[in-house]
Order: sequence, then C-alpha cells, then structure tokens
Amino acid sequence: MQQKARIWGKGSSCRAGGLTFLPQITQIFQLICADFSRALCASLASYRSTFAPNPFQEISVNLRSISEISVKKIAVSRFYNALMQGNYDAIIIGAGAAGMFCAARAGQRGRRVLLIDHAEKLGEKIRISGGGRCNFTNIHASPANFLSQNPHFCRSALARYTPNDFIKLVAKHRIGYHEKTLGQLFCDESSQQIIDMLVDECKAGKVDFLHPATVQSIEKNDRFRVNTSRGEFSAEKLVVATGGLSIPATGATGFGYEIAKQFEITVTPLRAGLVPLALDAPEMERYGMLSGVAFETIAHAAPREVSAKKKTERVNFREAALLTHRGLSGPAVLQISNYWNAGDEVVFDLLCGRDANDWLAELRARRPIVTSFAKALADVIPQRLAEAWAHAHIPATARDKSLADWNKTELANVARELNAWALKPSGTLGYKKAEVTLGGVDTRKLSQQTLEAKRVAGLHFIGEVVDVTGWLGGYNFQWAWASAAACAESI
Ligand SMILES: Cc1cc2nc3c(=O)[nH]c(=O)nc-3n(C[C@H](O)[C@H](O)[C@H](O)COP(=O)(O)OP(=O)(O)OC[C@H]3O[C@@H](n4cnc5c(N)ncnc54)[C@H](O)[C@@H]3O)c2cc1C
Repeated sequence: MQQKARIWGKGSSCRAGGLTFLPQITQIFQLICADFSRALCASLASYRSTFAPNPFQEISVNLRSISEISVKKIAVSRFYNALMQGNYDAIIIGAGAAGMFCAARAGQRGRRVLLIDHAEKLGEKIRISGGGRCNFTNIHASPANFLSQNPHFCRSALARYTPNDFIKLVAKHRIGYHEKTLGQLFCDESSQQIIDMLVDECKAGKVDFLHPATVQSIEKNDRFRVNTSRGEFSAEKLVVATGGLSIPATGATGFGYEIAKQFEITVTPLRAGLVPLALDAPEMERYGMLSGVAFETIAHAAPREVSAKKKTERVNFREAALLTHRGLSGPAVLQISNYWNAGDEVVFDLLCGRDANDWLAELRARRPIVTSFAKALADVIPQRLAEAWAHAHIPATARDKSLADWNKTELANVARELNAWALKPSGTLGYKKAEVTLGGVDTRKLSQQTLEAKRVAGLHFIGEVVDVTGWLGGYNFQWAWASAAACAESI
C-alpha cells in the first residue's frame, strides 16, 4: 500500500491523466480503503506542505492502480482531517530495530503510526549485524548482560518480552536460524530476512513509512508536532528510536540525544562500546607482526591497582582475542571494551583459568625434560604468539636454560604473567569501528514499564538511545525488541 502512495508522491506533478483530488474529495474517498488512505494522506500532507501550501489548491493525483484497491467505505471526516493535518496516534523517529518493531506492534494494536527515518535504506545496522547474518537474540539474555547507570532498569522490559518471544516471531516468518556459540542465535541465510520480517510486521500493523525525510523541528503543545522535510505531522505520542552513534555511515546520528536535551532530559556520558582497542608503538613493535593471530583467553579490564573488593566484582569473558595491525580485537576484547576506561589495563589469562604454577610444575616434571618454554606454550596458544610472548617475558638468563633449571623467581614471574598478561591500550578505535554507544538517555528520567519520560507525557525513548547497553552476542537486539514491545503496549 505504501508503494502506491510513493508512486503518487513521485509522479504527481508530471504525469498526465491524473485525477483532480481536493474539489471532489468525497467522491473519491468512497473508493479508497483505509490502509491506502493513510499512506496517501501522509504523502498528500507532505506534498501539500512542500509544493502546494494552500489546502484548496488543486493537487493532481495519478491513481493508476485504483482498480486494485479493495472497496471499503471510510469515514470521510477522519480521512479529511488526517489529510489536512497529518495526524497520527504515534510518530516514531528512527526505523531501525527498535523503531520498526515498536511501530509494528503499536500498529497491530490499532494505533495509527507514522515511522520516520532520514535514511534511504531502512535497518542498515541490522543488515550489517552479525557479519551479515544478524545475531538477533541470545537465549541466555538477562539483566546481568547489560550495562547502565541503573542496572535494574532493563528488568521489566526484558522480562515481558523474552528471547523466546522473538524466536517465535522468527519461526512464524519461516526464517532459519542456528545457535553459533554461547546462546547466540544467527540467521542461517541473511540479516535481510530480519529487515523483511520487520517491514512485513509493520505492513500488518498498517504503519506509514516516511523516508528519507529529515526531522527539522519538534514542538509539543497538546500534541507533538513534527516538522519534516516532507511536511508537518502531529501525534499524541512521540517515540525516539534513533539509536546510537556507532558506524555513522549507516545513518547513525546523535539526534535522539538532542531531542532528550530539548525536553530537558539528561543524557549520561557517551562513549564507544564493543570496540577494538589501540596499542601504543612499543607494544605494536612486539606484537604488530602477529596481526591476524587469535587466541582463546579469559579477559578483563581493570585499573592497574584494583582493590580486593573490585576484583571480585569484575566481569571476565572467556572468548577469542585477536591481535590486529592497530592493536586488539576479537570477541573477548570487544566485550571488555565495554568495561574499559582510559588508563585501564586489559588483562589476559593465557591459560584460561588453569593455575600457571601448577602448569609449570607439571612441565618441569615431564620426561623427557621440557627444554623450550616457547614450544610448551605453543601447546596452549598459537605458536607465533608463544614465541613472541616468550621472547618478551622470559629474561635472557632463563631463555637458554632448560625449564627444570629455572629458579623460583623466574618461575613465579612467568606464572604471574601467564595468568595475567596485562597490556595498556592507548584508546579505542572510536565510533567508526564500534558496535554500540555506551551511555544515553538517563534511565532515571524514564519509566521502566513504558519507557516514557517521567516529566514529558507521551515522549518515549527506546533501543540503543537509552542508557542500556548489552554485551556482544545478540543482547543489544534483544534490548531493542524488548524496549520496543514495552513501549508499544503503552501507546
Ligand atoms: C557492525 C555492527 C554489528 C552489530 N551486530 C549486532 C548483532 O549481531 N547482534 C546485536 O544484538 N547487536 C548488534 N549490533 C548492535 C545493534 O545493531 C544495535 O544495538 C541496534 O541496531 C540498536 O537498535 P536501535 O533501533 O536502537 O537503533 P538502530 O538500529 O541504529 O536504528 C536507528 C535508526 O534511526 C535512524 N536515525 C538516526 N538519526 C536520525 C535522524 N536524525 N532522523 C531520522 N532518523 C534517524 C537511523 O537511520 C536508523 O534507521 C551491531 C552493531 C553494529 C554497528
């Protein structure tokens, strides 16, 4: 149905043989079904404000496909009203994961929804996610997998819309999926299937799409008035689903944060998350030639001096880390980047939880005698890394000796380093390489049930724009679906 409205928008001014619209408005309405009328009125309102600001000026419409439209009488007054004012129950800004899902669910509850996005293509982050296969949820998702200044905020939404709920939807659309690792569910074929599914769900909810369209201003009196490059629209509810700042090439902007500030809603400090980390020149001299080498590890990020209490609280990730030409990446590093602050170290346990003292004792007891430490280490981590690591960590005095001849200090030093190899990144690779933005709209200012701003009735924030950030592994999409569902229930 939206397709037909778009035909009109593009062709109205130049096609011959069109129908004259406004003067005979009542005759034509009787032929138009409700879906079409809503799509059409969005286009008309947009067209009218751009090209024909006088509401009584003639608008020529090419309704080529009018015969395909099912005949259904609609209330002329409602249509006329909507036509003239672009009125909706809810306007959602941002047609990404959260925005489309919220629009679909609210639409399916009978709400008249307009979904606005400035991008030509919808759901670009979904498309590039999960290496093109969209890791759309994680079966183990729980509030413990999210970072926020208020770690309890996400509880309600996550409990009410679970990974299983989304899996059922994916199954309903016959999208094949598989668990890759650690509860992470990926499409068998392509991320595009998730985008198509969301668009289909929006169609089922009779959602009107307006894109590409730039939002120029937002005002609130009794309703929200959203002024766009394609006309002015109004609604009782405004949902901000503009996402975070990562990968600007996908259409990411800080617009959601600006809207929050316009309505005096605080935004917590923002920084790049799930992002590779850069190493300084001296570290790169040692490990730069190992670019592409991956190793299994348990990793955490910490200030050099951490109190005993902090140690018990810290979050460890057992996954692969990757050495790159800029520094560190791989799932383990992306995970800990969420917990890394400038000046912190990144610490790798190369033995993945095994006590290095025990491991060294076992090596020393082995017969025939272990003569090369680097060779023994290559049983645990890739050989090239084992050699570079041994070169960097074993003093020359010990390097040429058999392991059996190492003294206590040499053994203790190496054991400590094996279980806690610390590197000090110089920074992150920033939003260009980050998967998410940490921080966002302050959760203290939002209702955790409805995601509505406590002090601005009808204004909601959902998805990544909110200060709730998930781990790597499908958690961020689960937050997008869950926050969208919670909001849709209330609008
Ligand atoms: C490379 C990459 C891979 C990822 N892989 C995964 C994964 O596999 N699993 C996972 O859970 N998460 C993944 N993520 C994170 C996930 O994509 C996001 O957390 C999620 O898309 C957030 O959903 P959202 O709807 O809040 O924002 P988005 O999906 O980013 O949608 C925001 C929308 O708002 C629009 N918009 C922005 N500014 C404006 C404006 N001024 N006017 C109008 N519209 C605007 C944008 O065009 C966009 O369509 C990945 C992220 C990246 C960058």
